[in-house]
Formats: sequence, structure tokens, C-alpha cells
Amino acid sequence: MTQIQQNLAAIKGQLPAGVELVAVSKFHPVEALLQAYEAGQRVFGESRAQELVVKFRQMPSDTRFHFIGHLQRNKVRVVVPCVSMIESVDSVSLLKLIDEEAGREGRNVNVLLEVRVATEAAKTGFEVDALLSAAAGGELSGFGNVRICGLMAMASFTDDMEQVAREFDKARAAFLQLKHGVFHDCPEFCRLSMGMTDDWQVAVNHGSTMVRIGTAIFGSRQ
Ligand SMILES: *Cc1c(COP(=O)(O)O)cnc(C)c1O
Repeated sequence: MTQIQQNLAAIKGQLPAGVELVAVSKFHPVEALLQAYEAGQRVFGESRAQELVVKFRQMPSDTRFHFIGHLQRNKVRVVVPCVSMIESVDSVSLLKLIDEEAGREGRNVNVLLEVRVATEAAKTGFEVDALLSAAAGGELSGFGNVRICGLMAMASFTDDMEQVAREFDKARAAFLQLKHGVFHDCPEFCRLSMGMTDDWQVAVNHGSTMVRIGTAIFGSRQ
């Protein structure tokens, strides 16, 4: 086994059943992804459009990519054909654009809505209140080509795991409110993507159903 395959096995051994693993492969070469693929990993996370396109072309056809980075409007067209999910939808206008592009491509795109729970100004995403009011106002429904599958959140970059836990709780509360509210007839609205290398155990303990782990699998990014 290679180091990457050992890292992957160690994480899979700790992940509770039912929690999906997205192997975040951004900045790492295709050879690294292939090692994980050979060990059975099929879902990879990428955050830059051009890098995603290149890897999408080179990886075996049953590889699935999640786009997890900030998605610029002018990159939607190149990203849509390459992804099984866009986790980082942070505005209604982006949702509309993805819906249009997916329609043009004749496909359905799974998305998560990114909710901002961290205190850092740099973090993107819907504010919780804005998200809930967009939902209540019907702005998240009626799309023909996007399937809203849940929420994604990132906690603050801090060693204070109690703060991290509070932020994950905030995301989970919003998730449950939507799941039992406007999305109660949508069984696909069932995913809560939270947790990275440094905080995924906390995230899982606070309701995550999908973790996005990069460094602990592939090593540090250059
Ligand atoms: C890079 C990234 C990750 C993975 O981070 P690690 O700390 O390397 O596990 C997860 N989620 C998002 C949105 C990212 O941009």
C-alpha cells in the first residue's frame, strides 16, 4: 500500500457507516488521485475549474467529482459537465445559472447550499437568516435541472473545538429546519457536508453526513 492508500484506509476505518467521504484532491497530481481510486475511492473534491476539467478528462469514467470551491459565474459552463455535485452554491443567482447551464447540457446537477457559520470574514456562503428567508420566499424551489441535496458548511479556522462545534450545530439547525420545512417532500435533501482534516471528528459528532478530507489523505498542498 502507498502512503495515500494507508491514509485513506485509516480514515475509512474511523468513519461511521453512512458518512460519505469526499477525498479533496485539489493541487495534487492525477497520480495521487489514481492511488486513491485504486484503493476504491470514487468521490473527489476539487476547487478550481481548470484543474477539475483536466482531472475529469484523465480519471476513469466512474470517478465522481464534487466542486467545493468558490464558483465564479463565468466558470459554471465548464464545471457543470464535469461534476456529480456542486457543494458551494452561495447565492440564488448562482443556483439559477447552474440550473440554466444544466438544462442546456440536458442534465441534472446535484447541489448543496453553502451556509456561512464561521466568524471569519473571508468565508463565503449564505447567512443562515438569508438562507431561511430565501427558502420561505420560495426562491429555492421550482428549478428543473438542479437537485438541492442539502447544505455545506465550513467552521472557523481555529484550535477552539468548542467554537467549531457551535458552528457545526448552527449549520445542522439550519439543515434540519429546511429539511422539515420547505424540503419536507424532497427525500434527496438529506446531506450535510461538514468536516475537514482538522475537524471532521467534531463534524461527525455534530451531525455531518459527508466529510471533505484533503491533507489527511494526500498530504500537504504545495
Ligand atoms: C481544501 C478544502 C477542504 C479540505 O481541507 P483539508 O484541511 O486539507 O482536509 C475541504 N473543504 C473545502 C471547501 C476546501 O476548500
